[in-house]
Amino acid sequence: MPIAHPPSETRGETRDLQVNPVFAAEPLKVPRHALPEQGIAPDVAYQIVHDELMLDGNARLNLATFVTTWAEPHSRRLMIESFDKNIVDKDEYPRTADLELRCVRMLCGLWHAPDPLTAPGCSTTGSSEACMLGGLALKRRWQHARRAAGLPADRPNIVMGVNVQVCWDKFANYFDVEPRLVPMAPGRHHLTAGEAVARCDENTIGVVAVLGSTFDGSYEPVAEICAALDDLQQRSGLDVPVHVDGASGAMVAPFCDLELSWDFRLPRVASINTSGHKFGLVSPGVGWIIWRDTDALPEDLVFRVNYLGGDMPSFALNFSRPGGQVIAQYYMFLRLGIDGFRRVQQTCRDVATSLSSRIAALGPFRLLTDGSELPVFAFTLADDVTNYSVFDVSAGLREEGWLVPAYTFPPDLTDLAVLRIVVRNGMSHDLADLLMDDLSRVVDRLAAQAAPLRGAEAASFTHGAGPRPDVPTTNGVGR
Ligand SMILES: *Cc1c(COP(=O)(O)O)cnc(C)c1O
Repeated sequence: MPIAHPPSETRGETRDLQVNPVFAAEPLKVPRHALPEQGIAPDVAYQIVHDELMLDGNARLNLATFVTTWAEPHSRRLMIESFDKNIVDKDEYPRTADLELRCVRMLCGLWHAPDPLTAPGCSTTGSSEACMLGGLALKRRWQHARRAAGLPADRPNIVMGVNVQVCWDKFANYFDVEPRLVPMAPGRHHLTAGEAVARCDENTIGVVAVLGSTFDGSYEPVAEICAALDDLQQRSGLDVPVHVDGASGAMVAPFCDLELSWDFRLPRVASINTSGHKFGLVSPGVGWIIWRDTDALPEDLVFRVNYLGGDMPSFALNFSRPGGQVIAQYYMFLRLGIDGFRRVQQTCRDVATSLSSRIAALGPFRLLTDGSELPVFAFTLADDVTNYSVFDVSAGLREEGWLVPAYTFPPDLTDLAVLRIVVRNGMSHDLADLLMDDLSRVVDRLAAQAAPLRGAEAASFTHGAGPRPDVPTTNGVGR
């Protein structure tokens, strides 16, 4: 697969860029795909880029993404003020480094690390990098234990639901760990304790539990998975740790689901990640990972960098990256506090649950989830609707400007096609009313249609939650 598409002659993509004559008195030669020989004036270059980007979608109407699409002016201002700060220059930007550390300590507290002042953690570019680091720590820990016991350490596996985000397929592929993917089944849309434990053996580096699933917004039962692994340890001596991928949920559950036990209060949870740029309310890209304690993060993965003459531990895949996102995260924490985050996330949940119940009441749809865990829900067409598809509904909404993705589920539920709505901060009750108006109109129009126009081939949506034809159903075997 090419990682960049070749220019298409037929679409005129090899033609030079056409510069609006208002901006350039002389005709300008601006090649599309080659580095220009000569530069041009900043305002002309700006206008060319600006005009092209105008054709990107309206981010506020994008109900497909989990990632922040609106930031407060103050957050923007701080990001602009710090756009030139490289987060790795701890020596040069000690205050930025300190703000990162404060965010880590805040998350340690929020997620109930046994000792919030010493639990290791760091910022990353997003949850993907954080998950790689979490997976690497699990793998290295397992290797150390195996070698110490004089046992082979060359066939590690990791157990997770087929619904995991694509970063976990990448982790398994890039770092040579066998992915044991638990398939879906009718009525089972995410990992369950029994299915997880059945695939664990002496080569299992860990189980990934997702809070929550990108396919339908449901929380995986972290506490049940941990309890089942406790039981496995009792029976067999196998001690399998859990990583919680809380890309979205680790910034929702601590504010809205106080009674839910999913974090470091469960002794088996070794590490937790989240995306600061999802429900952490920061613009992309920032993520976070915290380990329970120093035992959960093998010392030989940690590099020491010089920091004000002292040494600063570092565990990361990237080196240089912008410091502004971490600064904006600290701003959001100060700005909202626990109460503010609770109000923001609860509002998202209220909008999501009200929207889902109104969609259910429309008639043609059946809800898979209702937005009461992540403010995200998936719905499909009722069995008696055979004259249009969810892909037709998605295309109809697209004509109205809304991006509501339709996609099929992974194995063994590839016949199930759904629509999904992600409610983020900024998707208000008012916008939800407008969406309902448009959805009702689309459905009325489609009711007159004789047969579906689009099938699963219309699912262009990937976003880490789309179809993954290259992923095997399951290669997990019991012990
Ligand atoms: C979004 C997401 C990821 C990837 O996170 P990025 O911040 O986009 O790198 C991983 N896991 C889950 C469950 C997600 O929702």
